[in-house]
Amino acid sequence: MKLISASAAKQKGLPRYFTGKKCKRGHLTERRVVGGACVKCSLLAVEKYNAT
Ligand SMILES: [Zn+2]
Repeated sequence: MKLISASAAKQKGLPRYFTGKKCKRGHLTERRVVGGACVKCSLLAVEKYNAT
């Protein structure tokens, strides 16, 4: 994954950016431009939602 800042991603119209830093739950992955949530955390939230 290439490093791209939130503002650079926004300028390019990309849905996600990647800082190379871990999220608060320790995932090293892309983050959403809208809301800033890590993609993995978002997926986990959806799975949790679907499971209940
Ligand atoms: Zn995360």
